[in-house]
Amino acid sequence: MSHILILPGDGIGPEIVQEAVRVLRAAEQRFGLDISLDEAPVGGAAYDLHGDPLPQSTLDKARAADAILFGSIGGPKWDTIERDKRPERGLLRLRSSLGLFANLRPAILFPQLADASSLKPEVVSGLDILIVRELTGGIYFGQPRGIREENGERVGFNTDVYSESEMRRIAKVAFELAGQRNNKVCSVDKANVLEVTELWKEVVTDAAKDYPNIELSHMYVDNAAMQLVRAPKQFDVIVTGNLFGDILSDEAAMLTGSIGMLPSASLDENRKGLYEPCHGSAPDIAGQGIANPLATIMSLAMLMRYSLERGDVADAIQAAVEQVLDQGLRTADIYTEGTRKVSTEEMGAAVAEALARG
Ligand code: NAD
Repeated sequence: MSHILILPGDGIGPEIVQEAVRVLRAAEQRFGLDISLDEAPVGGAAYDLHGDPLPQSTLDKARAADAILFGSIGGPKWDTIERDKRPERGLLRLRSSLGLFANLRPAILFPQLADASSLKPEVVSGLDILIVRELTGGIYFGQPRGIREENGERVGFNTDVYSESEMRRIAKVAFELAGQRNNKVCSVDKANVLEVTELWKEVVTDAAKDYPNIELSHMYVDNAAMQLVRAPKQFDVIVTGNLFGDILSDEAAMLTGSIGMLPSASLDENRKGLYEPCHGSAPDIAGQGIANPLATIMSLAMLMRYSLERGDVADAIQAAVEQVLDQGLRTADIYTEGTRKVSTEEMGAAVAEALARG
């Protein structure tokens, strides 16, 4: 039996996770999966209940689970509470407590949505990039950090730090995944300015020696940001650190038209993972029943592929999503004239039905 922990979180989190669970139930039925589900509070919801965005009981359940399906966290309600108790800190702590160092963010343009991209269809059609972002190191975690008084004014500071072993293990993940795709890895750095990424470039180059079939290239982050909107199809796998990966993956998200279409996986050394949409809690549309649940549903597909090793189930979920898009169903964020606008629930139910039908 596989144990999956559901962490709905805040804002649209509970709405979209509910639809992913609906699809999970359909997958269980069709494939005879043996899954136990548990649920726990995280983020602002957990702060309201327990005064902590990652209560010990939630962390214990996360440690015990085989995989975690996560909605989203945060919202204006918690933006002004003490920094350590903010929802985002709960998620950072969860990622680092579980050692989830490899963040996989695919950016795939569905042919049905080519019009939704802000770029010309010929620039993005057929786009299939995988961004591999280091998730538990770098400037988001480095010490010292803070805001202090200096010469009568406040000074803010953070530290970008990576050990050689952290660099090597994320490079290996990128090379291995590229081997299952188009055998190309582009490592993104700022080696001309930052020593930490000078070392990054050196270590990634050395790690590549074990993967002779992989074509490795290097690119400065400013150029990568430009190339992603100029000629995104030149990339197969992009590997980079925490900060650059955060920004570039959101940029890649926009190439596909909607952030509501992008799943992600965060894996540890043993492929236990936390699966979540790339977007946040969208407080502006929470509670309206209009959020796009497809990123979360495709995160469930990634969970099946990487943590449960059920590539067949993952493929079937992806196919069900494509079928529903083919039928012209669209949530508001991907709606274009001539298609049918549906609610969060209608979209989830349609994917579950398509999956059940097979
Ligand atoms: P956001 O991703 O929540 O929203 C950005 C825009 O995209 C909004 O207009 C929103 O309505 C839209 N959007 C996002 N997801 C959508 C979906 N599934 N369907 C349709 N539209 C969608 O980013 P933000 O507004 O910068 O942040 C809101 C809150 O989310 C903040 O508190 C932030 O800290 C938090 N956040 C959480 C995560 C996470 O849980 N991993 C990630 C990013 C931001």
